[in-house]
Amino acid sequence: LTPTDLAPLTFAVTKNLAAKSPAERDEILANPGFGTNFTDHMVDVCWSAKGGWHRPRVQPYGPISLDPAAAVLHYGQEIFEGIKAYRHADGSIHTFRPLENARRLQRSARRMALPELPEEYFLQSLRELIAVDGAWVPGGDDQSLYLRPFMFAKEAFLGVRPAQKVAYYLIASPAGAYFKGGVTPVKIWLSEDYARAGKGGTGAAKTGGNYAASLLPQAQAHEQGCDQVVFLDEDGNVEELGGMNVLFVMKDGTIVTPQSPSILAGITRESILQLAKDRGHRVEQRPVSLAEWREGVASGDIVEVFACGTAAVVTPIGVLKTATFEDVQPTGTLALELRQHLTDIQYGRAEDTHGWLERL
Ligand code: PMP
Repeated sequence: LTPTDLAPLTFAVTKNLAAKSPAERDEILANPGFGTNFTDHMVDVCWSAKGGWHRPRVQPYGPISLDPAAAVLHYGQEIFEGIKAYRHADGSIHTFRPLENARRLQRSARRMALPELPEEYFLQSLRELIAVDGAWVPGGDDQSLYLRPFMFAKEAFLGVRPAQKVAYYLIASPAGAYFKGGVTPVKIWLSEDYARAGKGGTGAAKTGGNYAASLLPQAQAHEQGCDQVVFLDEDGNVEELGGMNVLFVMKDGTIVTPQSPSILAGITRESILQLAKDRGHRVEQRPVSLAEWREGVASGDIVEVFACGTAAVVTPIGVLKTATFEDVQPTGTLALELRQHLTDIQYGRAEDTHGWLERL
């Protein structure tokens, strides 16, 4: 982080007097699942058009009181991030490339006409929460504390314009191993009825509406016996899954991943591509059509297909299904090797040659 003139925020800390006991916490951490348990505290910072960022607080985790006219409830002016904290064998707590999340939150903010949270404040919010809730970072295999920064329009005003009052929050939820008993390939439903994003739309922003729009196609995927849905753009090019980017391994070792202005620039994908380059693989970001995908698998030019994102890290794709075809995908070992290398760095088991870890 390049130093700026920005003075650090001074957070007012209110301890949660009803915090979980160590025994209660340990019981949750023994089997945390995903996204249903939360730590004892949350962080919030207010923003107003007049006063900028102000009133930074660490307070007991709990319900937020909102005016029923708050703009987020009507027009969905909201953005979020997802990032994990990992406990290393020596007990220390680290997060992974947090500046990338801070910058992506800023890009999402620009697109959704929300204020940009300075990178320093983003990092500070992570540190403040870990300072009070560090004991919630589990230490088991593949476990982590999932950090969820988010920002929304809280101004009570029914006119359609950018809100003049906004709130930034950070909450945290302990997460268990995504795959229990080994990484298994997923079945993917190709949505032909619905798109996730359009040209000039909000696909590249991490904003709630994109995920709301993915729920119906995701439900159709489940009805079809699939785990996830993959979306195409209007020209028939592959975009991404509802919450993960897609990568293809070619016969000559090249890794290809879609280039598109309407997909979310995944930090896992960027890291996987870097680790692949370090191993001498060529990487290409370019449009990939559905036809190229299917023909590549049929001809043997594509030897592995996988998805990646913060939650699951790397997931091999085993089947691509639509109403008219069901293509079994080739499996290899590269995706899992890259997954292992990335998690080894995150959990402090491999050298962090790119300086990706940030101690909290
Ligand atoms: N695409 C979408 C739509 C996502 O929601 C996510 C998860 N943030 C990703 C890709 C992967 O991004 P990352 O690797 O930064 O988690």
